[in-house]
Amino acid sequence: MSAGRAPLRTERHAQEGGVERILRLTHRCNQRCGFCFVPADGWKADPAAVEAELDRLAPELGADGVLTLSGGEPLVYPGLAGLLASARRRGISRFVLQTNGVGLDRPGLAERLIALGVVGFDVSFHSHLPRVYDRLTGTRGQHARAMSALSRLFACGAQVSAVVVITSLNYRSLPGWAGFLGRLAKGARPAPRLGFTMLNGAGLARAPELGVDLAAVEPYLRRAAARAAREGLIVPRSSGECDLPPCLAESPAEFASEDDLPQGLVRYADDVRGGMGGAGRAKRTACRRCPHDAKCLGVPAEYARMFGLGALHAA
Ligand code: SF4
Repeated sequence: MSAGRAPLRTERHAQEGGVERILRLTHRCNQRCGFCFVPADGWKADPAAVEAELDRLAPELGADGVLTLSGGEPLVYPGLAGLLASARRRGISRFVLQTNGVGLDRPGLAERLIALGVVGFDVSFHSHLPRVYDRLTGTRGQHARAMSALSRLFACGAQVSAVVVITSLNYRSLPGWAGFLGRLAKGARPAPRLGFTMLNGAGLARAPELGVDLAAVEPYLRRAAARAAREGLIVPRSSGECDLPPCLAESPAEFASEDDLPQGLVRYADDVRGGMGGAGRAKRTACRRCPHDAKCLGVPAEYARMFGLGALHAA
């Protein structure tokens, strides 16, 4: 796919206080996560197309809306700061950056982005252990840079959501990850968020060796959530296709989405290991009786094929 010919990817989400739109600026990235679902085709958005998209989005987002900039890695998109300034001229004033954070170790960059209206940084940080981080991101030597970027964001008073994708390589170290981030963020305000996510269907298809049975994950997840709470960190509610089913948490009601989620792709079954065809989502038939059914997307069908649905605590 060549630069400028691909359509821009925008997705609409409900967001507290207004609409959120996600704008993918590029498929390029400075990391090579084996589970990543973004195609490695080098695509980047044509600047003129971005300007036209900003024109289109401005009335929809209004003053309260949030424009989330994603990729690939949005920090490798040339002219990111100029894009923010251009959006501001159209009245879009609140931005979130979905990033691996590595480029934010550059002195002054985080401060500049915040001054331009970036109100949140969703930072993928898949392990506090450098060896595991390197394996999951296909990089060497970036762990220290990502840590430095996180420290810089905490020092700036930025709203940070550190996000871990749970895999076969890092699930046992989740409690340590939460403790590590708690120490790194000590005293930070606002309190950082820790997002626990799972591989989606595309990620599992691409890197099945990184998949892990959620029944094995659960005890580590619960210890990690408890550790996060002791450190004063916030674990957000489950609300999207990469989030974990709330029944894995100690108090599911606290982690279920506040809103009903679209159930159109969900199939209810009891034994789907190896047999469930197509994409989509899966739940147990007993999930229909779960008080969180409407607010839960279950698990990817690909996960159900690999591990079954025994980890879901349907009544
Ligand atoms: S609907 Fe099923 S998967 Fe979702 S929280 Fe309830 S028991 Fe778990």
